Amino acid sequence: MPETSTTFPVSPPRAWAEVSLANLRHNYEAVKNHQQGHVMAVLKAGGYGHGIVEIAQELEKSPPESAPAFMGVASVIEARKLAEAGIRTRIYLLGPTCPFEREEIVARGWTPCISSMEEGEHFNQLISDFQQASPTKRLRVHLTVDTGMGRGGFLPDSLLRNIESLDQMDSLELEGIGSHLPSADEDEKFTQAQFEQFDSLVESLGIERFRFRHLANSAGLLGYQSRTTNLYRPGLMLYGISPLPKYQPTLKPVMSLKSRVSLVRELPAGQGISYGRDTVLEKDTKVATVGIGYGDGYPREISLRSGEVWIRGQRCSLLGRVTMDQIMVDVSHLDPVSYTHLRAHET
Ligand SMILES: *Cc1c(COP(=O)(O)O)cnc(C)c1O
Repeated sequence: MPETSTTFPVSPPRAWAEVSLANLRHNYEAVKNHQQGHVMAVLKAGGYGHGIVEIAQELEKSPPESAPAFMGVASVIEARKLAEAGIRTRIYLLGPTCPFEREEIVARGWTPCISSMEEGEHFNQLISDFQQASPTKRLRVHLTVDTGMGRGGFLPDSLLRNIESLDQMDSLELEGIGSHLPSADEDEKFTQAQFEQFDSLVESLGIERFRFRHLANSAGLLGYQSRTTNLYRPGLMLYGISPLPKYQPTLKPVMSLKSRVSLVRELPAGQGISYGRDTVLEKDTKVATVGIGYGDGYPREISLRSGEVWIRGQRCSLLGRVTMDQIMVDVSHLDPVSYTHLRAHET
């Protein structure tokens, strides 16, 4: 009904997220510069909440020599989203697949990782059924080894026992081998041992046997070296988060959460702020109410620590608990002139 929209201005949102593709690009360059090798861009959970298709499209614009070799996703639903958006980079499924997902994986040529003989046999069977017209075509798969994560993969002994049978599955091409790090950001000794175990295992199987060898997530890529790997699987780093604090300055945040100031008041000492009244003002304070809360994804736990927001380039401390759609912040130190155009205020 255009009539209504001409009688009053349509309100802009109170809270929104902005995603910087330029910062994504910066972080991708940081990944490429940190260690030589191929990259699997980890895009699971909707590109860590940044928009899986938009992130994939931006990364795919890289020149061919530096573009990601794979996009790593959590499920066939995510794989389908990328394929249907026209993404041409190879798609890799990071976890084990369910039997009912495998036909689609085969038909679309996505790359699964294999943790058990059962999966290998099923894929092998599906491909020979599917490829009867052109029996020479094989499905490229990666083997996963469990070197400590406890979530998937062949245990190293079991892989050694079964590798020959896997090799004999005519419709599979064992293109890669990978493992995952549970505590590369917390336990250096364990992680070093894991790298050693993985490298030794790959060497004993023969490095040349696998075109892609991969172990490192962001923390592994930033902090560790391997003798055998040539593919890295960064997620966090792409989005601007360094699991190893030392490298945080080399990355730029991709998402920023923004909102508007809806009210500014001078409140007296003794005034309680927000639910529970666990914050009581010790002195007269200028308090801004901002239109974002946990219903918008601003974490409620932030109130327990000392949260901060930026208003016009200045840090302002959170006062009291985060409510569902509003927070209160101390703006006593801000220039009063900046409140003349409340609409323009962003935190
Ligand atoms: C999520 C995930 C990654 C990416 O980890 P980050 O810590 O975000 O870099 C890499 N590999 C696997 C198997 C994963 O599940």
